Amino acid sequence: MLNHPTKSRKKLLVIVLMLLKNLIILFLSLLILSCSKQTAKYDLGISNVNLIDGTGSPIQEGVSVYINKGKIVEINTLTTHQIENVIDGTGKYLIPGLFDCHVHTTSFQEDFPKLIHYGVTSVFVPGGSTCTNDYYATLRSIGNQDSIPAPRVFHTSQHFTMEGRHPVKTYASSNWKEGETVFFLKDTAQIAEIVKEVAKYPILGIKLTIEDGPAPPFVERMPQDFINKTVSEAAKYGLEVFAHVSDNEEFLMAVKGGAQNIVHFVGIEIDWENDEHISAINKLLDREGSIVTTLMIDKSFIYPLNPEWLKTPSIIEAYPAVELKKLLTPQAIGRAQKMAALTKLEYGLDEISMESLFLSKVEDIQRLLDLGMNITLGTDAGNSFNFHGYSLHEEMQILEMGGIAPRDIIKMGTLNAARMMHVQDSLGSIEPGKLADLILLNANPLASISNCLDINTVIKNGVIQKRIDK
Ligand SMILES: [Zn+2]
Repeated sequence: MLNHPTKSRKKLLVIVLMLLKNLIILFLSLLILSCSKQTAKYDLGISNVNLIDGTGSPIQEGVSVYINKGKIVEINTLTTHQIENVIDGTGKYLIPGLFDCHVHTTSFQEDFPKLIHYGVTSVFVPGGSTCTNDYYATLRSIGNQDSIPAPRVFHTSQHFTMEGRHPVKTYASSNWKEGETVFFLKDTAQIAEIVKEVAKYPILGIKLTIEDGPAPPFVERMPQDFINKTVSEAAKYGLEVFAHVSDNEEFLMAVKGGAQNIVHFVGIEIDWENDEHISAINKLLDREGSIVTTLMIDKSFIYPLNPEWLKTPSIIEAYPAVELKKLLTPQAIGRAQKMAALTKLEYGLDEISMESLFLSKVEDIQRLLDLGMNITLGTDAGNSFNFHGYSLHEEMQILEMGGIAPRDIIKMGTLNAARMMHVQDSLGSIEPGKLADLILLNANPLASISNCLDINTVIKNGVIQKRIDK
């Protein structure tokens, strides 16, 4: 028997309707899914901004940067996504978070908010009188969260030095404790054991102090065979050596011994006609080593002779004026006069000015950059008249005064620094896939590097950081 034609048509209609219904449900659920994905795709965006990405590339206009789960996920010039959390970057400038590659802190509770205030989202700590393993662990853990303002922390081992030498004798403090905040090398045979001990911790390398002290009476330098042995032992654990030197002789000793990094560039006067100097530079280039600028050390020595420097609006943002005034003690001024006299003598200067102190130094830095040396910005903040966060901007201004282009200065404070920390795959520039450490500026830093102080927003790990209230 044949089916009744209307009955089978009805059946077909039911099937078609059911299919249609399922299709509509599928379509709607796909739509909902894609919408929810769309809103969850970005936690934060910065739209229509001028981008200086830290790689040294030219500025890009009208760029939108999107962040998700702490990372930069998209950079484009064509589309702006409609998302909840967006900062209008029109007329503003976006640069990577800055690194200060030479910072000391005895009170991170005080210093860390200041670093973040001035856009310093990563620091490198090469030892210090409070740097026990526990103190370093605390610095790292505070640096790894984003709710309390704090930079990411990279660091070396404790100081490797010798009894009666720098910095324990020259910067006397009851905090220097052998085996805790400092290691006194007694003979080369003992170095293997100490390197093995510090290699248990997440350090970037060994802090090796060769220096004979900042001023007379000088102490003795670390002997060459101690330097050589420290470098070869460190290499067994994949650790580099960060040499603390203060003049040409120590610079040459460090390079001869195999050290990869130089943590200060003050006191070194490169003689470009001297084969020994050129050979040392070539060795550092071959090792892909780094040099940290720290020109702020020389500026800090003469700070008390220039009290007007303590009155600039930018420093007062985070450092109360009354506190700054208190720093100008008769002792501080006396010390500065002594250092100025010594510097005049050492460099054969008639007068101490920013130009006389720094022009030839910055020229050397430019020549080294041209040769491909990885030079990074650092201040030695934590010493007198060397201010956490603020002084990194002073460092940049000295380099600009000496003729280095702002775009290169920014690269030294971002991508070059990340290279020194070996984190260039995740930090140091504004590129998709990297961690979102960013500074939004109100003015163009390429017009004047001092515009890096005109900060609108500091972002670390994709999270807007609280700055100090003015
Ligand atoms: Zn230092």
